[in-house]
Amino acid sequence: MPKPTTALMALLCVVPLVVTLESPLFSDERDAASPNMELAAKPATESTIAANSMLYDELPFEEQQSFLDARRGFMAELPNDGIVVDENNAPVWSLGKYSFIREGERSPLTVNPSLWRQTQLLMIAGLFEVHENIHQVRGADLANITFIEGPHGIVVVDPLTCRETAAYALELYYERVFRDRNRKKVVAVIYTHSHIDHFGGVRGVVADDDDAGLQIIAPEGFLESGLSENVYVGNAMARRATYTYGNLLPASSDGRGQIGSGLGLTTPAGTVTLIRPTKEITQSALTHTLAGLQFRFLLTPDSEAPAEMFFYIPEFKALCTAEDAVHTLHNVYPLRGARVRDALAWSKYLNQALNLWSGETDVLFAPHHWPVWRRDIKGNDTGRVVKHLKNQRDMYRYIHDQTLRLANHGFKMAEIAEMIRLPPSLTADWSSRGYYGTVNQNVKAVYQRYLGWFDGNPATLHNLPPSGSAVRYVEFMGGAENVLRKARKSYDKGDYRWVVEVVNHVVYADPENKAARQLQSDALEQLGYQAESGPWRNFYLSGAQELRHGVTTSDSFIGIAPPPDIAKVMPTDMLFDYMGIKLNGPKADGRVFKFNFVFPDVKPGNYLLSLENSALTHTIGQQAQDADATITMARTTLDEIMLQQTTFPGAILEGKITIQPPAEGARKLGEFFLLLDPEFPFWFNVVTPNSPPPEAN
Ligand SMILES: [Zn+2]
Repeated sequence: MPKPTTALMALLCVVPLVVTLESPLFSDERDAASPNMELAAKPATESTIAANSMLYDELPFEEQQSFLDARRGFMAELPNDGIVVDENNAPVWSLGKYSFIREGERSPLTVNPSLWRQTQLLMIAGLFEVHENIHQVRGADLANITFIEGPHGIVVVDPLTCRETAAYALELYYERVFRDRNRKKVVAVIYTHSHIDHFGGVRGVVADDDDAGLQIIAPEGFLESGLSENVYVGNAMARRATYTYGNLLPASSDGRGQIGSGLGLTTPAGTVTLIRPTKEITQSALTHTLAGLQFRFLLTPDSEAPAEMFFYIPEFKALCTAEDAVHTLHNVYPLRGARVRDALAWSKYLNQALNLWSGETDVLFAPHHWPVWRRDIKGNDTGRVVKHLKNQRDMYRYIHDQTLRLANHGFKMAEIAEMIRLPPSLTADWSSRGYYGTVNQNVKAVYQRYLGWFDGNPATLHNLPPSGSAVRYVEFMGGAENVLRKARKSYDKGDYRWVVEVVNHVVYADPENKAARQLQSDALEQLGYQAESGPWRNFYLSGAQELRHGVTTSDSFIGIAPPPDIAKVMPTDMLFDYMGIKLNGPKADGRVFKFNFVFPDVKPGNYLLSLENSALTHTIGQQAQDADATITMARTTLDEIMLQQTTFPGAILEGKITIQPPAEGARKLGEFFLLLDPEFPFWFNVVTPNSPPPEAN
């Protein structure tokens, strides 16, 4: 019986669910490579060494301000060498596996020196004082957790990805900050935005039975637009996210594997939780009191997340800009895939924050990276808060405006992405460099937001799909061997971008061609070694690894059953939409069904589900007299099915689902369920073609 479980799994794909602490397994079921291939990662080539070492001359490595800021207020190391374990003592997070990345050392030849520097900064981990009453734990998760002490308790900002890392951070905070006095209680939690690394650990900072008096503050639309962002293509996004974060790559001391993700090191693998917000902020600039402190919020929807907000605490002169102003160029479009974000609005929100608060901000902090202080430790005003906000604002504005300027001159997406460089005043600022997003991908995102995928040239209007064109390209270019011979020459010249473009045709024309796979993986690897962006490096190296080893999987993948907290908050409406996405169109040809669904324990409780023209429609609040069946079940039963605590037939046997008319209705419903695709395959091929899904039978 098909179950809508992947819909819930999809919610988590903001960051992937692959456990990163164990070695990947090499699957022999999927696309597998030959043992004849050279499987180990290779050293840097002359071209890569030259490109990387040139950066030491170009970039201001002597400038130490970021290191000073990242260390400022240091109070304590992470306990247990930065290893966080779950209740079975299994590690869910390990900072220690990156211990080969040490401050003051030059990058390995296989790592872009600028990315290496960023990861050196990310390795400055522990408990930090941001302000007398504001503390952060950094390096215990992908994100930071912030603790704000008010007269009446603690406000936690962004409680990390999972319960274990959040509890570990809270304990460190209590131990050090409340060493000589009674611990104050956590009375409020702020989710700055709807990404999982900012809420998933909430039950690690709040006792389960404590929910009653607790305030949970989130931006408007947190549950709906926020959590639903990733549901419909969740499987595809989650698989691609394993590339973004390099979850299946080793973090090896030879510098040929994963070197962080630019935003943080990687993702943890603990228990994801969620407590529904008790209050959504729906209006900017109003004052709310939490723990006896005043907070002013600024809504920033459709910037880095669909639902996001900044806040300012006047009493502490402290500003939190959520994830919109951190120490990297962020993603207007993330490589895992998402609807593109609004770069113009993003820039305007930063300008609003600048105008509202920068003049009276002593410290600016964020849920990733390190804070920016207005004064140096001697008390001199450095103007750095204003400069940081301006640079971040102008970076998104520049990318937005220059993309559209060049589009209006007639240039196409790929052309503009090559033409635009940030101005030198911004590229010289380490915090404006592309460690997470890149100018190239963000330019394409802006173009796509306004003009869509078509570049206007009819020659590109109806291109052949990759496999179709690959065979013809290879034939026109004189056969696979000829292409590879030429491509090897390009490889020897260091023209790796061209090699991967052209050899991709050979791989797609014949995925069994080991020589093509070898050359393709070697070229992708050198591109990875040169990439300044963590996700770009991870994508290139993950692709190289899969060409050599076949698709790698992890037996500790935990995405199949959704976390119960998230299952409960998923709107029923969204589950029906997701059912439509699972409907196999060709298989449903000519079939017509109508079902009434009744969920007596929730409002709205009535849904009419109808299938015709191979498309599934549901209408909220309606029932049909002539329905094929009426299905009555508690929404909590639906949750149990999603959580795989029972199955649809199991729940019928247990009497938790009734169907009218019983026999005929159940038969019709069974026929309908057979039209839905079973679980989507998580470990689909990324760098080689996939076989078509099963269609009409
Ligand atoms: Zn984040």
